Formats: sequence, structure tokens, C-alpha cells
Amino acid sequence: MADIVKAGRVALDGIVLKKSDQKVEADQVTLDGQPLEAPHGLLAMLHKPLGYVCTHSDGEGPTIYELLPPQWMNRKPSVTSIGRLDKDTSGLLLITDLGPLVHRYTSPRAEVKKIYEVTVDHALEDSLIETFASGEVMLRGEDRPCLPAKLDITGSHTASLTLMEGRYHQVRRMFASQGWHVEKLHRRQFGDYQLGTLEVGRWQMLDTPEV
Ligand code: URA
Repeated sequence: MADIVKAGRVALDGIVLKKSDQKVEADQVTLDGQPLEAPHGLLAMLHKPLGYVCTHSDGEGPTIYELLPPQWMNRKPSVTSIGRLDKDTSGLLLITDLGPLVHRYTSPRAEVKKIYEVTVDHALEDSLIETFASGEVMLRGEDRPCLPAKLDITGSHTASLTLMEGRYHQVRRMFASQGWHVEKLHRRQFGDYQLGTLEVGRWQMLDTPEV
């Protein structure tokens, strides 16, 4: 143990431990940056890179689970993402082992705020703001219109879109329904959680809310 500490491989709450005979208190102990033990009832935020899938099988490419400590998967219950982002979307994903928390955030009645940064293939038009806010946008194959969504146009081809629901490929399908193709998609906020400075491919522990 002393050698491992001396090599600077152990950190307490992110601060490298210098002496092995120190009496310390910490919420999280990591070895080589990985938590030694993750408490059950964990909630973390991952900055999903492009090209990663949110399924457990790697048939379609690398999975987000490869970016997480293996010990989070090798136990029961193992962790899962709260909702999904598609392979070509980057951004904020919540990860948890708490089933009720997944349900709380993904149930259709939950109306959790999600903010996406979108780049499209041709110039945006102001009329889209009203269209998306109307609560009348129909997606192909569905019989219920989308909830009102807030579109902020930030450039000729860029916008941020705030949704209060999470249907399959919703952002891409909403733009497609109006004749735009989404070329780049990134989620920067989920509920009250924001990516902040968390680097692509990295995760960060969050306080677990009461479920
Ligand atoms: N909408 C999409 O189209 N893709 C996502 O990954 C998330 C929302």
C-alpha cells in the first residue's frame, strides 16, 4: 500500500495522497483515477463522445460503458444510462444504478428539461421558433404532437433547442419534419445538470437525489 501511495496513485476526493500513515477522511478514494468502491445508489454524469453507443453490446461500435469504471458494471444492480443519446450525438448523459431514478427522469409525465445545441444543413428561419413553440409539431409515425419546445437561433445554421420530453431521435425528427437535416447534435443540459467543464469521455460523481 505504501508503494502505491508513494507512486501518487491514490487520491482522496480528487487530491493525491502523499503519505500512507496519514489519518484521513474522504467521500471518495480512487486508485489510478478509478473509485475503489462505488456506493450503491450512485449518480454520475458522463460527457458522451461522438461515435459511442448507449447499449451494453458493442456490435455497433464502442459503448459508453467502456468509459466507466468496470466495477460499476460487474455487480448487481449494475449501472445504466438515464435515457440515451444516439451514436452521432455528444453530450450529457446521467448514469445510475437506481431504477426508480431512471423512471423518475424518463417517464413521459416527468417533463424534464433538456437543452441541445444543433447545427443544421441550411439557414434557419425565424418561423421555426413559433412552429416549435406551438405544440403542434407531428413526428412521422406518431399520433400525438410534440410538447411546445423553445428554439433559440444562435447563428445562420445553429440553434439551441429546449425540450421537456424525450422521444426517440426527437431533435433530428423535429427538424426533419420541417425540412431541415441535423448535422451536429450535442446535449449540454439535462434537468438541472450541466456539463460545465467536464471533458469529452470523462465522468463525474454527482450527489444522489432522494428517490
Ligand atoms: N434527439 C436526437 O435526435 N438524438 C439524441 O440523441 C437525443 C435527442
